[in-house]
Amino acid sequence: MPEGDPPLTLRDLNQIPVSRLRGVGDKKDAALAGSEIRTLLDLLTHYPRRHLDRTREASIGDLQPGEEATVVGEVRSSRTRQLRGRRTLTEVVIGDGGHQLRLTFFNQRWREKQLTPGMSVLVHGKCDTFQGQRQMTGPIVDLVGDQTGRIIAVYPQSEKSGLLTKDLARFVEEGVARCRPRGLDDPVPDGVLDRFDFVDRAAAVFGIHQPESMAEVAEARRRLVFDELLRVQLELVRRKRRIERETAGIAHEITSELTDRFLERLPFPLTDAQQRAIGEIGADLELTRPMHRLLQGDVGSGKTLVAVHALLTAVQGGYQGALMAPTEVLAEQHHASVTAMLGDLSVSDPSTLMGERPLRVELLTNRVAAGDRRKILADLVTGKVDIIIGTHALIQEKVEYAALGVVVIDEQHRFGVEQRAALREKGDAVTAPDVLVMTATPIPRTAAMTVYGDLDVSVLDELPPGRTPIVTEWARDAAAEEDVWDVVRAEVASGRQVYVVCPLIDESEALDVRSAEDTFAALQASELSDLTLGLLHGRVTAAEKASVMGDFRAGDLDVLVATTVIEVGVDVPNATVMVILDAERFGIAQLHQLRGRVGRGQHASRCFLVGDPSTTDGEARLEALVASTDGFELAEVDLDLRGEGTIMGERQKGRNDLKLASLRRDKEWVAAARQVAIEIIDADEELDRHPGLADELELLLGDDDADYLMKD
Ligand code: ADP
Ligand code: MG
Repeated sequence: MPEGDPPLTLRDLNQIPVSRLRGVGDKKDAALAGSEIRTLLDLLTHYPRRHLDRTREASIGDLQPGEEATVVGEVRSSRTRQLRGRRTLTEVVIGDGGHQLRLTFFNQRWREKQLTPGMSVLVHGKCDTFQGQRQMTGPIVDLVGDQTGRIIAVYPQSEKSGLLTKDLARFVEEGVARCRPRGLDDPVPDGVLDRFDFVDRAAAVFGIHQPESMAEVAEARRRLVFDELLRVQLELVRRKRRIERETAGIAHEITSELTDRFLERLPFPLTDAQQRAIGEIGADLELTRPMHRLLQGDVGSGKTLVAVHALLTAVQGGYQGALMAPTEVLAEQHHASVTAMLGDLSVSDPSTLMGERPLRVELLTNRVAAGDRRKILADLVTGKVDIIIGTHALIQEKVEYAALGVVVIDEQHRFGVEQRAALREKGDAVTAPDVLVMTATPIPRTAAMTVYGDLDVSVLDELPPGRTPIVTEWARDAAAEEDVWDVVRAEVASGRQVYVVCPLIDESEALDVRSAEDTFAALQASELSDLTLGLLHGRVTAAEKASVMGDFRAGDLDVLVATTVIEVGVDVPNATVMVILDAERFGIAQLHQLRGRVGRGQHASRCFLVGDPSTTDGEARLEALVASTDGFELAEVDLDLRGEGTIMGERQKGRNDLKLASLRRDKEWVAAARQVAIEIIDADEELDRHPGLADELELLLGDDDADYLMKD
């Protein structure tokens, strides 16, 4: 690669096979391929797992028993002993100067071959003492070879394919050396680099592999993280803008008598958050491009009202509104609460004598009888139905609308992009309806920017005043659990009702049902023998379910024992206690959702988490629920504990271009990258003036890869 040629692009790097490097023969080439490293680009983006600052490493003599540390030493000896059974113990002694450290490995006979005398190794682990000698049991071992710099890059190595950190370091070193003469092309505009004080692309790529100092590592990482996030956001924003350009929407009239009357008749003022969300939605509705907005807010934050306001905005302009729920129960509940909220509002209708008629709201689920269904469908086509509420039945082909204006999707569990698209197509041939997606499972805002990258986001981060927060307690042992049942009996004695959620058994529904039946029988036989109990699980028939729910709602049952079928949609204000058994088996979001079933009336409510987690993560989850009732705060904790997998999904995680960036650690960079992406795309829609960036998107986020970003 002679000097004078233009700087190398990522595409150039991607066209150079690693086999061109010295020292990469067939064997190493195969090993590299085993780690998905085929080209120079793969190699240079195979980033170090960590960096070791040799000026700060411990020497063996300083190791303190009980503490974790990293040391470098030279292998002095290694041998394997046969233990009882078929077990083996391999002991490796390493040393530096006058001190020695014994490493022990069980059933890893291959270590003997891996760690031969004279070799320099980096070990990380907890030091203890055995027969007066320093020892580490099963430490992490990196073969650093003779890397001499002050900072050593430690690569993720694959022992299986025989690819060691020292091999990688050697290949990377050569790769970097080959690139240096031409340098690396930097497609990110100078203005952006200046704004964030970024080092250039070459400095970042070379710096993360061969840093002179830890500060250089940090600078390099910052820049590379930004680049990854910027690419994702550019792709998302470009797609979003394309949809906006290519689909015509309805310019709704956003101020009018109908919405005014609706707000005037509310028995309470809007919260500031509701006001803000209504404003943001109004601004979208007014434009000729269709709205795609996500409304996030905890259970009880008043999303329904905001949604109804949007539906009415459509209705007052002569359009129809649709509200789609994930289950029939929830659709029915929405229908009941929306009907109550609207009361006897009327809409103008010049064809009638009075010039107006009552606003008409209908329910459409698979449970609606055939005759009623036909009538509703017919009246939808002629525009006599103003607001339709239902399940996915609403997007079936035979459902036609006169003029669908606004669609609200209540996405307790995510519906997915395809369904959103199907609803959009229910508009007339030329215009697409505006779409508002509601979710009660908040995800952190920056994560939403990536997961819901095609949507704008509004947040209800405030509960209406006067709510008594649900008090949550964690009952860890048998004595504490006894107290829980005391509380349950006392609450029932004072007229309240109680939910008991049964242990969740992931493996099968059949086991879940058994667990629910067993719990029911056990409680009925002992702790709650004087109370009237009902049972709900996934296998009861719809009729039975309706009857049990009816009895519970009517107050004829004291306690409802159930599986997570109650997670969505049950709303009984007189129920004030939620007991969740084996709570450690549930995730944070699910516990929060379950807890949201109480605290819906004027009585103070309590939630008991019964469980004895065996992991620190399990403990942290329950502690988080005790400490907070704020869904956004809990979502942050969840992200911290479980990482992006929770929101991205395994499939997505495996395929994305985020090698260094973490939605969790690099939150502020997600927001910054989105901002920059918007600025760039809004000035240059198809990146014609940024060919370098456009090419990187095509290379790294080809259609297939980018599709995942738009799905769930
Ligand atoms: P979400 O759908 O977000 O779970 P809802 O819209 O069902 O919340 O509202 C929960 C309850 O709070 C309802 O009974 C609703 O009437 C009431 N509510 C909504 N907004 C307000 C407000 N601004 N002030 C007082 N109560 C409100
Ligand atoms: Mg609601």
